Amino acid sequence: MTIEGRLIVTVPIVSYCHNDAFVPYDEQKCAHLKSIWGFLKMHYESSSLIMALYFANQSCDPFLARDAPCRIRTHVQYTVNATNFFDIQKTIMFSKEHNIRLVIRNTGHDYLRKSTGPGTLGIWTHHFKDIEVINYSSRYYMGKAIKIGAGVQMFKINKIMHAHNLGDYEQLASIFGLAADQILEFEILTASQSLNEDLYWTFAGGGGGTLSIVLSMTSKAHPELRTAVANLTFTNAGISQDTFFNAAKIFIIGLGLILDASKTSIWLLIESMFTITPITIPGGSKNQLQKLIDPILQTLKRDNVTYTMNPIFNITEAQLGGRLILQSLLDSSPGVIINVFQNILILKNTALLSRVSVNISRQADLITNKLLSKLERIMLGGGVYLNEADSA
Ligand SMILES: Cc1cc2nc3c(=O)[nH]c(=O)nc-3n(C[C@H](O)[C@H](O)[C@H](O)COP(=O)(O)OP(=O)(O)OC[C@H]3O[C@@H](n4cnc5c(N)ncnc54)[C@H](O)[C@@H]3O)c2cc1C
Repeated sequence: MTIEGRLIVTVPIVSYCHNDAFVPYDEQKCAHLKSIWGFLKMHYESSSLIMALYFANQSCDPFLARDAPCRIRTHVQYTVNATNFFDIQKTIMFSKEHNIRLVIRNTGHDYLRKSTGPGTLGIWTHHFKDIEVINYSSRYYMGKAIKIGAGVQMFKINKIMHAHNLGDYEQLASIFGLAADQILEFEILTASQSLNEDLYWTFAGGGGGTLSIVLSMTSKAHPELRTAVANLTFTNAGISQDTFFNAAKIFIIGLGLILDASKTSIWLLIESMFTITPITIPGGSKNQLQKLIDPILQTLKRDNVTYTMNPIFNITEAQLGGRLILQSLLDSSPGVIINVFQNILILKNTALLSRVSVNISRQADLITNKLLSKLERIMLGGGVYLNEADSA
C-alpha cells in the first residue's frame, strides 16, 4: 500500500546523532538538531516526533550519547500524509484488513501519547489546511463562524480571525466559554446538535481520536475585543522563600477578583519562579487591569523583589496531572488552596499551574499518589482538563 505515494516510513530525524541508527552519524546536522530541538515547529512538522518527550522513552534523543541506540519504539512506524477523505478511508480499510493498530496524528502535541504508539500506522491530518469565515445559520446559532480543516493551527486561525475583526478562543473564554462550547459542526459525516447528535457530543467532550477522524470543524466566531493584557514574572533570587511565596500568595488570594467579570489568567508557580502569562480582560481597560495587579506589584516593591517579562514555553519533559478548582472554594477558603500549593512545592522539583507538572521523568507515583491526592482532597469529585490529565 502506498496511498498514491502518501505513505511515509518513519526514519527518526535524530538518527544523525547516533551511531547505531537509520542514517550515518552527522556531527553538523546533529548540532543543528540540538539547537532547534526545544522548539515546537520541527516537532509539529514531523510525521512521527513525540512532543511530550516522556513518552518517547528516551529513544532517539539528540542529547543522549552518540552510541545510545535510536529505535522507533513508541513512535509511529508508518504515517499516511492524508489530504482528503479518500486517503483516510483507504488507510482505515487497510489497517482493518491487516489488523494494524491505527492512530490519528495532527501535531503530535498530545501529552498522554494518544497520537503515537508502538507498531502503529498513523493517519496524519496536519495538511488539512482549508480555512474559511462563513455566515452560519441553524436553530442553535446564527452569525459569523469559521470552518477549519483538521490540520489548521491556532496561529493561522488567529491571523484570519483578526483580518475579519474576529477574536481568538483562549483569551475570550471567560466571556464566551471554552472552545469546545463554540463548535457548531464536525465534518466526519457532519455532526452537529441537529445532525448525528450523539457523534457531536462525543467529539465535543470525549477527546480526540475516540470514535472517528474529523476532517474539519465549524466554530462560532465572536467579534474581536480590545483587550487589556499584562505579563509578570519574578523569582526567588536574592530573597527568602517566605518573601517569594508571600508575593505569590497575594496573587492567589486576588484570583477570585481576576476571574470575576470575564477576566482570564494563565499562571505558573514553581519553587523558584512565579509567572503570569498573561492576565487578560477582553473589552477591559488598562486602569481596570492595573487595579487588579496593584496589590501584587505593591507587595513586590515593598519587599524589594525584582520582576520582569515572561518566558515562552515550547516542547515539554513535564509529566502532568491536574484538578479543576471551583472558584467558590477559592473565594471561601483561599488559605486551604494556598496550603496545598505550598505543600506541593515543598516536595522537590515540582511546578504548579492550575495543574501540577513534574519536571523530572519517571515520577508517576509522585504525581498520582503524593501531589494530586492533595488537590483531590480539597476538590472532591472535581474534574480534570482531559488533555493535561495525569496519564496514570
Ligand atoms: C507543550 C504543550 C503545551 C500545551 N499547552 C496547552 C495550552 O496552553 N492549552 C491547552 O488547551 N492545551 C495545551 N496543550 C495540550 C494540547 O493542546 C492537546 O494535547 C491537544 O489535544 C493537541 O492536539 P493536536 O491535534 O495538536 O495533537 P495530536 O497529538 O496530534 O492529537 C491529539 C489527540 O487528538 C486526536 N486527533 C488529532 N487529529 C484528529 C482528527 N482529525 N480527528 C480525530 N482525532 C484527532 C489524536 O489521535 C490524539 O488523540 C499543550 C500540550 C503540550 C505538549
